[in-house]
Amino acid sequence: MVLGSRATGIGVGGFILGGGYSFLSNEHGLTIDTVRAFEVVLPDGTITTATNTSNSDLFWALKGGYNNFGIVTEFTMDTFPIGQVWGGSVMLPMTDFDAMKNATVQLWQNVTDPKADIMIGFTAAENQTQIEVDLFYNGPSPPAGLFDGFMNISDAAQNMSTMNVRSYLSLVQSSDTNATAGLRGYFDTVSITDISPAFFDATLNETTFWYQKLASEVPDLLVHYDVEPFLRDVYSHAAADSSAWPPRRDQGFTPMLIYYGWSSPDNDELISRVLQQSTTHLTDVALGEGQDIASTPLYNNYALYSNPTERMYGDNLVRLRQIRGRYDSGHIMDLAGGWKF
Ligand SMILES: Cc1cc2nc3c(=O)[nH]c(=O)nc-3n(C[C@H](O)[C@H](O)[C@H](O)COP(=O)(O)OP(=O)(O)OC[C@H]3O[C@@H](n4cnc5c(N)ncnc54)[C@H](O)[C@@H]3O)c2cc1C
Repeated sequence: MVLGSRATGIGVGGFILGGGYSFLSNEHGLTIDTVRAFEVVLPDGTITTATNTSNSDLFWALKGGYNNFGIVTEFTMDTFPIGQVWGGSVMLPMTDFDAMKNATVQLWQNVTDPKADIMIGFTAAENQTQIEVDLFYNGPSPPAGLFDGFMNISDAAQNMSTMNVRSYLSLVQSSDTNATAGLRGYFDTVSITDISPAFFDATLNETTFWYQKLASEVPDLLVHYDVEPFLRDVYSHAAADSSAWPPRRDQGFTPMLIYYGWSSPDNDELISRVLQQSTTHLTDVALGEGQDIASTPLYNNYALYSNPTERMYGDNLVRLRQIRGRYDSGHIMDLAGGWKF
């Protein structure tokens, strides 16, 4: 198999060309780290191939650079054997918050097994807040004790029993992405380097605070914040300067996914402002804890459109602009949306 996303319904192009975090990233890196070649239709209509040795500037730039250099029509990627895996996705009530927080922080601080991965999210919608727990182990059973903090949450036993041995496809399909169907939506993100109990509390607080503040004026509001505790060496699977994103691989940061869904275009601007306020607040909380994240790259596939490209590409922007000049001097690709250099 190739390193795909952790939920169904996501396109191949943007996921790979932005970076790509998979359940297997702790073991094998970002999805862009596993691309061998891109076939690209350049803005002048030429079809070309970019690899590490042929059009290597384009190869580097496409790894994070989306549609700025043309349209990718074929991806050649590393494949990895996969057998039965273990895990699933469950929703827990807020009464399990403290136990789940302790389990997450304990795992973040102590577990270095690259076959393990988790995502923990809070979703507020329809006047209730729930905890989403996604656990993954690349093998039919996790080592004894690895996920005990989660599995032993006493009143969650029935829910957690759905974590089991299954195919990888069935595991990815277990995450309910239909909840967002038909809604308008914005993502935003904060890149963090630590998951402390206090940061966890702040994340939950953002979820409930904004939901309670906005629900009466924003029809069909859904507010979701999650932490994705990847191993600190998740970026070490490729060379330091092997891709346009992330612009630095020496810091073990992990992206938060913040997602707001709603139904009326009248609320677009309000939600955009709220997201900017909320990410600023969480950034301040992390900085206040001593996390050195002022220039930590944001994940472009999660970041709201209002973020400056410098916050994603850092010093790589200069090189990206030069490469863009070589392949698209007429700025044809400005006709396509997304991050522009
Ligand atoms: C439910 C859900 C779950 C997600 N889970 C994950 C996850 O597990 N890991 C993760 O890393 N991200 C995840 N994401 C984020 C996801 O990576 C981004 O939304 C990504 O941009 C989706 O790619 P797309 O092709 O569907 O998007 P699009 O919006 O179609 O494209 C995004 C950008 O890429 C460009 N693009 C697309 N295809 C090509 C191409 N062939 N050539 C050139 N440019 C192209 C587009 O022009 C656009 O600028 C998730 C998103 C959702 C909604």
